[in-house]
Amino acid sequence: MENVNDYKEISEIIKEKGGDAFKLCYQCGKCDVVCPWNKVRNFSMRKIVREANFGMTEIEGEDIWRCTTCGKCQKACPRNVKQVESGIAMRRIATEYGLYPPSVNPIRAIRSGLVADGNPFSEDRAKRADWAEGLSVKPFEEKMEILYFSGCFLSFDPRLKKVAKATVNILNKAGVNFGILGSKENCCGESIRKAGDEDLYRQLAKENIKTFIDNGVKRILVSSPHCYHTFKNEYPDFMVKFEIVHMAQYVFELINSGRLVLDKEYKKKVTYHDPCYLGRHNGVYDEPRNVLKKIAGLELSEMAESREESLCCGGGGGRIWMDTPKGERFSDIRLDQASDVGAEVLATACPYCIANFEDSLLSHKDRDKIVIRDITEIIQEAIM
Ligand code: SF4
Repeated sequence: MENVNDYKEISEIIKEKGGDAFKLCYQCGKCDVVCPWNKVRNFSMRKIVREANFGMTEIEGEDIWRCTTCGKCQKACPRNVKQVESGIAMRRIATEYGLYPPSVNPIRAIRSGLVADGNPFSEDRAKRADWAEGLSVKPFEEKMEILYFSGCFLSFDPRLKKVAKATVNILNKAGVNFGILGSKENCCGESIRKAGDEDLYRQLAKENIKTFIDNGVKRILVSSPHCYHTFKNEYPDFMVKFEIVHMAQYVFELINSGRLVLDKEYKKKVTYHDPCYLGRHNGVYDEPRNVLKKIAGLELSEMAESREESLCCGGGGGRIWMDTPKGERFSDIRLDQASDVGAEVLATACPYCIANFEDSLLSHKDRDKIVIRDITEIIQEAIM
């Protein structure tokens, strides 16, 4: 490559791209103590921040791509360095110069799919609602209670389509008047933004916002904490505000209002994994647990590193699309933790977590004893 420093002082570019807070760092190292990477290999956020401060960042290296944006370092940092934002600023520079190391190369294909069809799988946009075939699902109309935004994984991934279907079954059982946007739905843009492509994120976000406004959408139900975080906390940058609710919260609301009755037993030992973007980034810890506790026969236990300390599955920050070698996958450790508490079901509420856990389960010693479930799949069994 041509040296980025040939163009401009690198610390100045990082500042321009939104990473100015790294200058507050006083090198205490608390971020490195909590970073999950240090469970599987050496990695230092403190070092990245220090090098960025001196304009010495290796923009073409692997390290700036490791962060899963789990947010543990930000919670631990006494100086409010905003490591996630600073890290993404560096990725924006690498993206601008096309500097993807080998493990990050899959992002190129993801980008093409998003540009052509509004989804990272390069699936035909027209097939986005195929998951709903045979179910009682209507196109969204303004008079409806809520829009169900299924998101990319639940629309196209064969394993995650089961979660979209379970969601519809729950909504229908509770008599919710809801609709979907089908082929008008676009990726929320979260993971490509975290992978440094700000322009593409803005394009996807603007298209979604226009669709929401044109269709009179006010309240949006999502299954992915990544859609939740982006719609709730990042779309308001475009001077719009929609009411966003995650399925874990909505089911809790439906039960409390008497619209949904959990009348079947689910006699299993369950442990709940907090997705980073539902828990740490948005403080939703209690609703999923309270819903699970209402199911007769279900025995809920807590793993090590739960709630605020939850261990990242490894899929945030665009890492879901990148190659992580065996031996460096946090999801393998999480399965061990579920196994340690004797869980028969590892429950969560995020498609990235489910994809990573299902992958880890294939080679886990307890693969015949544990199953991975979204909480909607468990609720479905408790009502049907
Ligand atoms: Fe710097 Fe914050 Fe990390 Fe301490 S925790 S080394 S202040 S980034």
